[in-house]
Amino acid sequence: MQKPPIRQGGSAARVAVIPGDGIGKEVTPEALKVLKAVSAATGRSMEFVEFDWGADKFLREGVSLPDGAVEMLRDQFDAILFGALGDPRVPSNQHAADILLGLRFKLDLYVNARPVELLHQRLTPLLGRTEKDIRLMVFRENTEGLYVGVGGFFKKGTADEIAVQEDVNSRKGVERIIRFAFEYAQSKGLKRVCMSDKSNAMTFAHDLWQRVFKLVRQEYSGIESRHLYIDTLAMEIVRDPSLFDVIVTCNLFGDIISDLGAQLAGGLGLAPSGNIHPGQTSLFEPVHGSAPNIAGKGIANPLGSVLASAMMLEFLGWNMEAVALNRAVKAAVHENFVTPDLGGTHKTVEVGDWLAKLVSNASMTRPPTQSK
Ligand code: ATP
Repeated sequence: MQKPPIRQGGSAARVAVIPGDGIGKEVTPEALKVLKAVSAATGRSMEFVEFDWGADKFLREGVSLPDGAVEMLRDQFDAILFGALGDPRVPSNQHAADILLGLRFKLDLYVNARPVELLHQRLTPLLGRTEKDIRLMVFRENTEGLYVGVGGFFKKGTADEIAVQEDVNSRKGVERIIRFAFEYAQSKGLKRVCMSDKSNAMTFAHDLWQRVFKLVRQEYSGIESRHLYIDTLAMEIVRDPSLFDVIVTCNLFGDIISDLGAQLAGGLGLAPSGNIHPGQTSLFEPVHGSAPNIAGKGIANPLGSVLASAMMLEFLGWNMEAVALNRAVKAAVHENFVTPDLGGTHKTVEVGDWLAKLVSNASMTRPPTQSK
């Protein structure tokens, strides 16, 4: 039987944990450590169930996403904490596509939320920019576009080969992500939403984005909305990131522009993301991949995974706990208690321990409106 929609601010939560491959197996335990510390500090209960899906299992048993996994996650869990997938022993990356794209598509996680927030001036490559300049949210459409795998080869392997990859955009899919961006801006008191496409060249698919955007924006007259072609957006976000509060775009452009944003705010090690379907089981992960070049060295930055956990807590309505995690990460950055990618000297585990201790000792007051 399918469980009811996620209750915001409920007293208990069930979380599926999928560490995956490479540094996913190193950063996820640290995020778990911090989550356990915050739930102990506030008395709210979190149950974690770990799954060993990833390259090892795929190579051993030929199984990527087990039969019934999607239904089990949907019906028995509130959220999924995900690490990373990718292993040089699986050059096709088949298991990663099966698991991550499988979960995104089959759980219909249509919102990919990627916040870009500068936590300390020293972390941005942009000269003279400070924390107040770089604070925006990218919403990437997460279930359609060029990622649906529609296409094929003709005369493969010959000099006359043709490869076709279709860009799939549905009216429903475009409308729900654009609407989500406006609703988010409204709920957070943000004043600016920018929709980005390439409708001057992609005259069918992105014409649909244009028409839907024009209709939806009319319902949000209090929000300043505008459109930029994706190439212009890429230039503008580097020239002056303070121009943006909320960006909404398609699957491919969102993938690229959010990595650009991550770099403006300190690099991949710090960037979190949420794969969300409001009210249903949703998945939270650091933006980075499995980073085989540093896996096993104990130096992976766990902050992206901890920030993704904070996004998960906010999704569950545990706002006080989410704030505690965000504050702890900010403190680690300010005190330079960080891994080498951010200029520190600490190991992954040391950073996790430091954050867990901070969160355990933090005084937290639950807002009176929240249920116990
Ligand atoms: P995948 O194919 O799984 O996406 P990748 O190596 O191509 O892996 P990422 O894992 O996203 O791509 O990372 C690119 C590089 O950024 C890594 O090689 C690593 O040097 C650095 N990096 C990414 N994440 C982290 C992290 N959490 N801590 C430190 N460095 C990181």
